[in-house]
Amino acid sequence: MGPRVAVVGAGAAGLMAAIHAARRGECGPVVALDGARTLGAKILVSGGGRCNVTHHAVDETAFAGSTRPAIRKVLRRFDVARTVEFFADLGVALKREETGKLFPVSDRARTVLDALARSARDAGVAVRHPWRVEAVERRDGAFVLRSASGERLEADRVVLASGGCSLPKTGSDGHGYAIARRLGHSVTPRVFPGLVPLTLPRDHPLCALSGLSVPARLEVRTASGRRLARMAGSLLCTHFGLSGPAALDISRYLIDARFDDRGATLVVNWLPAMAPDALDAALRELGRRTPGTLLERWLPDRLVRTLCAVAGIDGSRPGHRLTRPERVALARALMDMPLPVTGDRGFGYAEVTAGGVPLSEVRLETMESRVSPGFYLCGEICDVDGRIGGFNFQWAWASGYVAGVSVGAC
Ligand SMILES: Cc1cc2nc3c(=O)[nH]c(=O)nc-3n(C[C@H](O)[C@H](O)[C@H](O)COP(=O)(O)OP(=O)(O)OC[C@H]3O[C@@H](n4cnc5c(N)ncnc54)[C@H](O)[C@@H]3O)c2cc1C
Repeated sequence: MGPRVAVVGAGAAGLMAAIHAARRGECGPVVALDGARTLGAKILVSGGGRCNVTHHAVDETAFAGSTRPAIRKVLRRFDVARTVEFFADLGVALKREETGKLFPVSDRARTVLDALARSARDAGVAVRHPWRVEAVERRDGAFVLRSASGERLEADRVVLASGGCSLPKTGSDGHGYAIARRLGHSVTPRVFPGLVPLTLPRDHPLCALSGLSVPARLEVRTASGRRLARMAGSLLCTHFGLSGPAALDISRYLIDARFDDRGATLVVNWLPAMAPDALDAALRELGRRTPGTLLERWLPDRLVRTLCAVAGIDGSRPGHRLTRPERVALARALMDMPLPVTGDRGFGYAEVTAGGVPLSEVRLETMESRVSPGFYLCGEICDVDGRIGGFNFQWAWASGYVAGVSVGAC
C-alpha cells in the first residue's frame, strides 16, 4: 500500500507533523520527503549549533504576519509546557537560560535532531531523502507527488512543511510557495528576509567598531517621523553594519516599511534606560569633567569616541565649555541617532522568512487548507514569523503538531 499521508519537508515542522500523524496511527503509512541530502541541516545550525528549542514565555505578540488571534489559536494547541514534555519524552531535557530561551541540556542541536529522527522512525514514518518534490497535483480525490528526477508517489493527504526561503542551502529554497499556489493558495505579495543583519555604508563609523555589542533600542520610523516598531536588546556592530538580537528583531519591520516608504528610517538609542532629561541634566552639570569620562561610565570607550565624533564634539574638553547646540548634537547621537541602512544581508543570512501562505486560507483547528481539502500546511511556509529566542521553532512545533494529529485522524 502507498502512503496515505505524505509530508513534504522533514524539517522541524514536517518531522513534528509526521511523528504525530504516524503516532495517531489511524491513517495508514506516513512518508516524509525531503529534498536535502543532509537532513535537518537548519536544526543543526540553529541557535549557534545549540538549537534554541523554544522560549519560556511564548505568545502571539512575539510574531508578525498573519493576525494575532489566528497565531494564538494555533500556539495554544501546543504550548511551551507541552514542548518541554514532548522533548523530555524523547529523552531531551531542556534548560532555561537567563534570557528565557530554552536549550537542550546537552547544548547540542544534534541531540534535538537525533531525537526527532528516532521518534519518527519509532512511530513508523518512512523518511525519504533526497526526494525533492517538484509538484503536487490533485488526482481523483487524492494527490500525486512528482520528484525532480521523475519519481512519482501517490498519497491521500499531503502536508506541506517545506519552510520558507531562509538559508536556502539547507534545502528551504521557496519552492513550496509554487506548490501551494498550484493547489489554489495565495502567497503574500511580500516575501522577504526576517531576523536578518542590516548593512550600513562601508565607511560608516559603526562599521569600524566591528565586534562591539551593547544593549540598545532600535526604532523604525516613517519618513514623516511616526514610530512603526521598537525593539530593545543587544546590538552588535559588524564590518558590514548591524547584527545581534535588536537588529535582527527589528529588520523585518524596517524592510516591510520600506516597501511602502523608501524614506523609512532606523534610529538607535544607545542609552535606552536613561530619560532624555536626565542625560541633558548630567551634561549640563559636568563642570570641569569631560563628556568622555561621563559617557564611559555607561558605554564602551570606543563607542563613546565614535559618538562624540558623530556629534562633532571633542569628548576630552571640559563639559562647561560645551555649547547648547553641541549638547543637543551629542544627545542626538546618544539617544536618537539615525542609521542610514543600505539594505540587508538577504535570505542567505536570514533566520526566518516574513510572508507566506496566509493563515486565513487554512482551518486553524486542523491546519487543513480551506481551498484544497486533504492538503495541510505548517511551519514557516505560513505567513508567520517570530522574534529571535525560540519563537520560530515553537511555531513549527505547534503548527506541525496540529497538522499532524489532524491529518493522522481518519
Ligand atoms: C541560522 C539559523 C538559526 C536559527 N536558529 C533558531 C533558533 O535557535 N530557534 C528558533 O526558534 N528558530 C531558529 N531559526 C528558525 C527556524 O530554524 C525555522 O523557523 C524553522 O526551522 C522552520 O521550520 P520548518 O520545518 O517550517 O522549515 P525548515 O526548517 O526550513 O524545513 C523545511 C524542509 O523542507 C525541505 N524542502 C523544502 N522544499 C522542498 C521540496 N520541494 N521537496 C522536498 N523537501 C523540501 C527542506 O530541505 C527542509 O528540510 C533559525 C534559522 C536559521 C536559518
